Amino acid sequence: MSDPLVIRPFLLPARGVARVPGSKSVTNRALVIAALADGETLLTDALFSRDTLILIAALRSLGFEVSDDKRIRTIRVRGLGGKIPARTASIHVGNAGTAARFLTAFLALSPGGRYELDGDEAMRARPMAGLLEALRGAGCRATAPDGGPATGFPFTLETSGRLGALEVDASASSQLLSALLMALPLSPGSSVRMRGETVSEPFVEMTMRMCAQFGRPLTHAADGAWSCPAPGPYAAAKEYAVEPDATAASYFIGLPAVTPPGSCVRIGGYAEGGLQGDTAFARVAERCGARIRTDGPGVVVESWTKVASGDFDLNAFSDTFLTLATVAALADGAVRIRGIGHTRKQETDRVLAMATELERIGLKVTPASSALRDDACLSELTVHPDREAMRRVASAGPVRIRTYEDHRMAMSFGMLGCHDLFGDGRPWIEIEDPACTGKTFPDFFSALDALRGRFVRVAVDGGAASGKSSTSRALAARLGLLHVDTGAHYRTLTLALLKRGARADDDAGIARTLSGLRASSSVTGLAARLAIDGVTPSDSELRTPEVNAAVSSVAAHPAVRAFLLGHQRAQAEAARAGGFAGLVMEGRDIGSVVMPDAEVRVFLEADAAARERRRAAEGMQDPIGHRDRMDSTRAVSPMVCTPGAVRIDNTELGLEAVVDRVAAFVAAAAGR
Ligand code: C5P
Repeated sequence: MSDPLVIRPFLLPARGVARVPGSKSVTNRALVIAALADGETLLTDALFSRDTLILIAALRSLGFEVSDDKRIRTIRVRGLGGKIPARTASIHVGNAGTAARFLTAFLALSPGGRYELDGDEAMRARPMAGLLEALRGAGCRATAPDGGPATGFPFTLETSGRLGALEVDASASSQLLSALLMALPLSPGSSVRMRGETVSEPFVEMTMRMCAQFGRPLTHAADGAWSCPAPGPYAAAKEYAVEPDATAASYFIGLPAVTPPGSCVRIGGYAEGGLQGDTAFARVAERCGARIRTDGPGVVVESWTKVASGDFDLNAFSDTFLTLATVAALADGAVRIRGIGHTRKQETDRVLAMATELERIGLKVTPASSALRDDACLSELTVHPDREAMRRVASAGPVRIRTYEDHRMAMSFGMLGCHDLFGDGRPWIEIEDPACTGKTFPDFFSALDALRGRFVRVAVDGGAASGKSSTSRALAARLGLLHVDTGAHYRTLTLALLKRGARADDDAGIARTLSGLRASSSVTGLAARLAIDGVTPSDSELRTPEVNAAVSSVAAHPAVRAFLLGHQRAQAEAARAGGFAGLVMEGRDIGSVVMPDAEVRVFLEADAAARERRRAAEGMQDPIGHRDRMDSTRAVSPMVCTPGAVRIDNTELGLEAVVDRVAAFVAAAAGR
């Protein structure tokens, strides 16, 4: 068991981008589908956990090209349109249920293959028989080590290359059915029927919706058969953003209910009506007083107006009941949570565990823990809030919450502990075994910590190819800042002016054309981009030799600078309203003109040869020496390293080291 963790209450409003991990169910489905697609798919915001790494390793051992970058949470998969390069392989699936089932059905698509599959002890005991039986109907052989027909791991799978009309008993796990459904489009004329019922309808729904997202919708006929009316390889997705784990997100929806007024937390990619049923928690939270608004691809949660009492049925998204039960400790009246009987047989008896720990912090719950212990059929819980009682209990020091090896107990009470119960920052909750969050969210407590602190603006200036963009992008990703590349602003405007026939050397023409243009901005992920008259050009359009050659002359025009300055200054407010932890803006005059009062200002440098090498490596024709001379000698807003800015020469430093240094300045400025 890990050492207990004392939770420090938030003294400032919570703010920033919640670092919620990607959903495991979505990540592993997307990996399988991407491998069956025609071409390359980039998964962003993917989950990196034991189970997803197992699937990645298995795909590689089958000959697929899969590259991943944990730091930026991306996985690139080159799909081969249904072909599986390796005809033989030996694969170990650990205890990853999704990998085990999804891969087995996937392998059936390989004509004449022979694969050895095994899992660890726990996986050997988990349901597989229904799937292996179904695949026998497809002409595959699954043989146990003793030579008889296999009913679970380990087994040797000899594959036929097609499915046909199959029947599957998925009563033990919906994954057995999902595995076959994902393979269906690659085997024309095939269908799957289910014998009996399956346990988790929402997960089958998730599979169907993802097949459709990748261009191969399935149908479920009245006679119960699933099929793919227009079979073929899936369509590769240039970029597929994995939804954040909806249950994990619920703690960050709850956080602004317990932290000081003015809290504002952004949860990127979270959307009701997404693939995961647990997003329905957002509506319950809103009924209690949560202020949640959609903002680009995601939501922003602001301080709740209050935590209202009420009666809630959480049956369909019961994993989130622990979040509601802990927020209820601060409600203005009793909160009744119904429909949660089945959670008494999960990681632990969750209803009993929650009742016991709420009582431990001084609250009355009904039924009381003693009654729950006596009656296994009780399926609800009412929390009676009482701040005075909680203060009395914690006056002797933080109360240690037992976690029962249940990650959700640790996370929900961890969130509640962020409340400043005494009004003086005194901690009052301590989590017994914080590492138990590792099951779904290893970094939970640091993600929570990242939201405490002041809004910080970072100005990054420097010459062409000095590493501004990679540094700023990595910093934004690490700290949840909004990233604004003002070089791209000047490029976007240059392109717009050139397209409209304005010449870089024609002052009056530029001023005239500018007067007819409208600037706006849109946020994707952590980046804000400029649009001129609603058009945001792609990166490659912004980096053509023509734009490279003209941009510095255009940027030297006072009218051009005036046109962009207001827009650039407005970005800090946009970042604040969007729930970002701060803003990192890069350019030439950010620390001197745009945000001279930024909390952190850095000026990046690298020697000329290193910069030439970087541009050459990007395959770009770019007169960087000439641009730098123009940028630093122009009359308005020349590029300068202003006094007080930190000069960092990154000729010899790796990106990580530079980001470490800047991040340390940000942390100091944020008071984290
Ligand atoms: O950073 P990047 O190389 O994309 O910038 C392109 C050009 O935009 C610069 O060479 C400079 O002329 C102009 N620029 C500027 N002020 C900024 C950012 C860029 O003048 N803040």
